[in-house]
Amino acid sequence: MTRGGLGALVLAATLAGAAVAAQPEAFDPARAWTHLERLVALGPRPAGSPALRQARAYITRELAVVGLTVQEQPFTAVTPAGRVDMVNLIVRLPGRRQDRIILAGHYDTKPLPGGTFVGANDGGSSAAFLIELARVLQTRDREFTWEIAWFDGEEAFCANWSDCGTPESPDNTYGSRHYVAEAQRAGALPSVRALILVDMIADRQLRFLRESGSTRWLVDLIWETADRLGHGDVFVNQSLAVEDDHQPFLDAGVPAIDIIDLDYPPWHTPGDTIDKLDPQGFAITGDVLIESLPAIEKRLIAGGVHRGLNAIHPARMTAAAATTAMTIWRALAAASPEANQPRTAAMTSRIATSSHGRPPGSPSGGRGRSTSGIGVGVPQR
Ligand SMILES: [Zn+2]
Repeated sequence: MTRGGLGALVLAATLAGAAVAAQPEAFDPARAWTHLERLVALGPRPAGSPALRQARAYITRELAVVGLTVQEQPFTAVTPAGRVDMVNLIVRLPGRRQDRIILAGHYDTKPLPGGTFVGANDGGSSAAFLIELARVLQTRDREFTWEIAWFDGEEAFCANWSDCGTPESPDNTYGSRHYVAEAQRAGALPSVRALILVDMIADRQLRFLRESGSTRWLVDLIWETADRLGHGDVFVNQSLAVEDDHQPFLDAGVPAIDIIDLDYPPWHTPGDTIDKLDPQGFAITGDVLIESLPAIEKRLIAGGVHRGLNAIHPARMTAAAATTAMTIWRALAAASPEANQPRTAAMTSRIATSSHGRPPGSPSGGRGRSTSGIGVGVPQR
């Protein structure tokens, strides 16, 4: 081989290497499906259980294989079953900005005394999906920092979502509430710009309804993206109110959406097994989210002040500037119903606007679940 030939070969190899490094990966539903099979094989995985510890080890290991490091966010939750050690898992993909978009789901499964509940769709699908999503997203260009989060303790320890606990200390969403509280404590909440939550995304008959408590512009944007990609039959234009891990974020003023298919007959029964599911749900949800992210970033950048008080952090301003900013923000919030101010009356408004048309206090539709207290009449996760 001549010197020139060797040089050309080296150059070609270098270019090929650069092309590979810059090549954005596509979402692979088969990989997500393998993760699901392995998680489900661990058996029931309620918060605090050895099986959930194994799930954590699995998620951590699989992410390490693709070069990602998991941060653990451990905490102890006070539950109706006593003090339970829980751990949120977080993968951070740094962007050009420190501001964060969080893509999350829960990885615990519901404790079901007297039954074997492996939570293939409920807890399994979100956990598996996010492992593959993290692998793909690290290859994607991004402006914001993207965080992938697996929340622990979404499920209630008592039989129903609102059987135990109080409005201030509910028996559910332990991990997401801890995440938000921790961000607040660290003064980092202003950098949390949006939350995209996925839950129960692998039903063979997949249909996502527009969760009516979610931030309107996020729902519109993701539903429009899905429609453009030809998934209008899955991302359906009907609405439903659902309580889930997005609620603590909404309450803190963070734009948030819950992408969930609650129309799943084996929900919270031993029948929630992998044979009811299909990898197609992973493929569709993955493609829609990956396609939506750049538009969400654009919207957040263009939206600026619409982010609310968290974006124009008063601590960084003089008192006069903060007052002016507060006035502007209030005016914008009043003029824009979808602006994301903390909503103390969130439950009430969501019950009132539920497309189910089910009056508060009536049994929850389709799920055979009657509830009491704060969540009355609202289907819950
Ligand atoms: Zn559940």
